Amino acid sequence: MAPSPKQYDFIVIGGGSGGSGSARRASGWYGKKTAIIEAGASGGTCVNVGCVPKKMTWNFASINETIEAGRHYGYDFGKDVPFDFTTFVEKRHARINVLNGAYESNWAKEGIDLIHGTATFISPHEMEIKPKDGGEAYRITAPHICIATGSYPGKAPGIKGSEYGIDSDGYFLIKHLPKKMVFVGAGYISVELAGVMNAIGVETHLFIRHNTFLRKFDPMIQETLTNHYEEIGVHVHRNHPGIKEVVQLKAAKDATDPREKELKLIMNDGSEMITNELLWAIGRPAETRGLGIENTGVKTNGPEGHIVVDKYQNTSVEGIYALGDVTGQAELTPVAIAAGRKLGNRLFGPEEVRDDHLEYDRIPTVIFSHPPVGTTGLSEPDAEEKYGKENIKVYTTKFSAMFYDVFPKEEKAKMPTQFKMICQGPKEEVVGLHIIGDGCDEMMQGFGLAVKMGATKKDFDSCVADMSYQEDSTIVKI
Ligand code: FAD
Ligand code: NDP
Repeated sequence: MAPSPKQYDFIVIGGGSGGSGSARRASGWYGKKTAIIEAGASGGTCVNVGCVPKKMTWNFASINETIEAGRHYGYDFGKDVPFDFTTFVEKRHARINVLNGAYESNWAKEGIDLIHGTATFISPHEMEIKPKDGGEAYRITAPHICIATGSYPGKAPGIKGSEYGIDSDGYFLIKHLPKKMVFVGAGYISVELAGVMNAIGVETHLFIRHNTFLRKFDPMIQETLTNHYEEIGVHVHRNHPGIKEVVQLKAAKDATDPREKELKLIMNDGSEMITNELLWAIGRPAETRGLGIENTGVKTNGPEGHIVVDKYQNTSVEGIYALGDVTGQAELTPVAIAAGRKLGNRLFGPEEVRDDHLEYDRIPTVIFSHPPVGTTGLSEPDAEEKYGKENIKVYTTKFSAMFYDVFPKEEKAKMPTQFKMICQGPKEEVVGLHIIGDGCDEMMQGFGLAVKMGATKKDFDSCVADMSYQEDSTIVKI
């Protein structure tokens, strides 16, 4: 007879941002017997192949930009300031190892069982664990199960030879910079990583299907940043016909070193290009592969297979919840963490938090482009659709930051800072705020709070020192 499954109060599948948030609340705060099952590295996408290594690489690239700016201030660094990308990657890796350990020690301190293995549902409340170390599979069960399995980089469908390219996971293995690199995709990942590579001297090509990238964002962001990328040297291939076939002319010696790699890209219009590396960043489907979701009755939706949830993160099956990227709701780390904590409160907390749930509107987000973009709330077209064009007022401003005052005039003119504020109704409630420019990544949290609290244009004006906005997209210099 098979041994009876080990019983928990709460099982969390996935030790990433969301899974960790909910497990820590359930166990650390409310003392519930909790297990996290993690198939890969502790901390999930953000820590291992997402926000953390991305931000560190963005910092690396920003230093190069600052060195170049320093020349305009009179610093003399000599012609080319050498840097060692390999050393940086090793340091980045070491930092990630520290974070993996920090996650695990926090879980241990809070009494959470960490199970290194892959979870597969065999019925709605029972799952089989295949241990990572190859040990014998066993079963566990709980009345409450949270699916926080994240997402994975999507592959290019039906393109011959697409496997010769890499995805963002592969990007973080690169230790030696290729001479030339092509990015396919028009979202956060493509724009961020292409910006980084351009800033550290890689010939960077960005293939986008339409005229601008970041098309889910306000038109001001799309247009300003797409134009700016061209000005700073990224080869943006607008309205690109798409790749038909990838031919490997020369293989890389190993995945960390694409310098010798040679790929021929044959496009749908017959044109060709040779490159050292190709990166697909065309979206991230929900990670439910091998999860046995078909054994639960949990409903999924759309081409990316997101798990359908209500506002409390309940799935279609009682006692099974889902949150984070696997649900496709604002796929951002702080969102997954907040949803996880709130689920923990709702399920196991005292009476006053039993209705806790995350509201998904007006979530601030930053794109670590060059320069960065910060945004919260609705784009202008979305605000018009929601409130009616006649009820919307738009204020914008555009200037060059003082940092660029010592740059040659034509260089300075290339460095945009732009704000757009979208207001609704007679009180001019701010329902959308979009900023592009140096430093906006750090200022966004404060603006996010103001907009979430329902701040009006008048509130912004009353805050010293206020910005000079002008109605209806007239540009004013401050
Ligand atoms: P994840 O963090 O992906 O965790 C899911 C975990 O589940 C994984 O560790 C996986 O191994 C495990 N798992 C999956 N299936 C199973 C199974 N069957 N059994 C056991 N374990 C399983 N967000 C930001 O807010 N800011 C950023 O700057 C940012 N930058 C990013 C840059 C990149 C390149 C990428 C790819 C993403 C970035 N994100 C960023 C998004 C952010 O990383 C995700 O939104 C966040 O990690 C989602 O958390 P999650 O808990 O839903 O899933
Ligand atoms: P996104 O969904 O943001 O963007 C992918 C884009 O690629 C699509 O919007 C589409 O744009 C384009 N695309 C889709 N299919 C194809 C195709 N077959 N060929 C060419 N282009 C295609 O995905 P990402 O992978 O960039 O990022 C996933 C998520 O991760 C993000 O949505 C974000 O939530 C999160 N993330 C957050 C970051 C942050 O907070 N700074 C950083 C990185 C990721 P179009 O229709 O215009 O062609």
